[in-house]
Amino acid sequence: MSVLISYDPIDNKAIGKVSTTSEQQIAILVKKAKSAQKNWATQSLIERQQQIVAAYKHLGTVQESLGLLISQEMGKDFRRASYEAGGAVQNAQYFCQEIAASLQSESLGHGSELQYRALGIVAVISPWNYPLAMANNLLLPALMAGNSVILKPSEETPLVADLFVKTLNEVLPDGLLQIAHGGADTGKALVNSDINMVAFTGSLAAGKHIMSSAASSLKRLVMELGGNDPMIVMASADIDKAVQFAVASSFENAGQMCTSTERIYVDERIADEFEQKVVALASRYQVGAWDKPGVNIGPIVNAKQHRKIVAHLKDAELKGARFLLGHADYQLPFIQPTVVANITADMLLEQDETFGPVVAISRFNDISQAIERANDSPYGLSASVFGGVGAAGIAEQMEAGMVGVNQGGGGAGPWVGAKQSGFGFHGGAAGHRQFAQVRVLSK
Ligand code: NAD
Repeated sequence: MSVLISYDPIDNKAIGKVSTTSEQQIAILVKKAKSAQKNWATQSLIERQQQIVAAYKHLGTVQESLGLLISQEMGKDFRRASYEAGGAVQNAQYFCQEIAASLQSESLGHGSELQYRALGIVAVISPWNYPLAMANNLLLPALMAGNSVILKPSEETPLVADLFVKTLNEVLPDGLLQIAHGGADTGKALVNSDINMVAFTGSLAAGKHIMSSAASSLKRLVMELGGNDPMIVMASADIDKAVQFAVASSFENAGQMCTSTERIYVDERIADEFEQKVVALASRYQVGAWDKPGVNIGPIVNAKQHRKIVAHLKDAELKGARFLLGHADYQLPFIQPTVVANITADMLLEQDETFGPVVAISRFNDISQAIERANDSPYGLSASVFGGVGAAGIAEQMEAGMVGVNQGGGGAGPWVGAKQSGFGFHGGAAGHRQFAQVRVLSK
């Protein structure tokens, strides 16, 4: 039996291991999931809700350990990791209520009823950057809709997922929620198995592969993919507010966030002041290990991701970018807070998702050029526009699923991407319903 070892990104020391799940074992999980799902789907929404809420209440007993494992496995500072663990535990009851309300049958008149029925088995495949939140956001609506779930967590964060599933299973019916461990190959085997839906959060490349594999049996898909989020700062913007957001959203989770600001276009009339203030604020961020007080930028999750960030910075340096804070070359495992100006459209920092603590700034003298560059991306997850009168009109022209005016995108409702950032979505009534089969029953 092969094992998957989880490493601390700070010193690459092993912190634990799990057994990987083979293709044959996935077939066994699927068989068990099928039988558990049959019984689960016969129960009423309220019965399912009660059992799930009880399981999450029990999850509260390991909330601190979940936070600790998030920090240890992917380096997030302990305050943020605890917040993520607390959110998964504490919000479950409210979340279940909201899902239950959106899955109620609706009368269509003339004796017909619209129903939200279970799809069958949902594979939830999740990333490492928010290892608990991303898995939880997809598996809760899936379970509430009467499906069984097989979770394939990221190979970077197997231990937190393992504790999460094990603890919920001390209350949930046997076989309803199972876990398959391993890397991309385990994910591929799960996608190709006899399941009915794939709810995926991760990279665009993996999403494309999953979508093509799912086509053979028309498996339902929810795809929450990468982003390359732009921010436009107009001359009329409240500069301090824009600076605050620019730095916070570029550095959150060491920049390893799907909706982190990746590219900033600032009006040249205010650009000097904006850049100076960004540097002043960015310099106050502290980099270090997750358990050091005051640290708000942890290590980069692994060497591959670190290499990618450095490659983007070196490419920018070569093509004439100005480094206002930090530089282009960093040693593992950290990237210091970095502010780069004079970004041009041919740079990797502009074209690709960097996923690191980097503020990348370009100037514009014509707002239509800023909009064009902001939209010139295959991605379209979130976007923001900071400005006074006219900012809302600019926001209307942004090609993204979530757009914020003087704030980040995605404040309420579904978590949704446009273009190649997403295919299907979750959250809000419309999102929850994607985990169900719509049926019209006429009597
Ligand atoms: P990844 O695509 O490398 O891996 C995600 C998961 O998919 C892992 O569990 C992995 O083992 C599995 N996997 C990889 N290839 C697969 C395949 N071909 N078939 C089936 N499973 C496969 O992504 P990552 O590096 O873990 O996460 C970072 C990415 O996730 C970034 O692009 C980020 O923007 C994105 N993300 C998006 C959202 C969102 O809500 N849109 C949220 C968080 C992260």
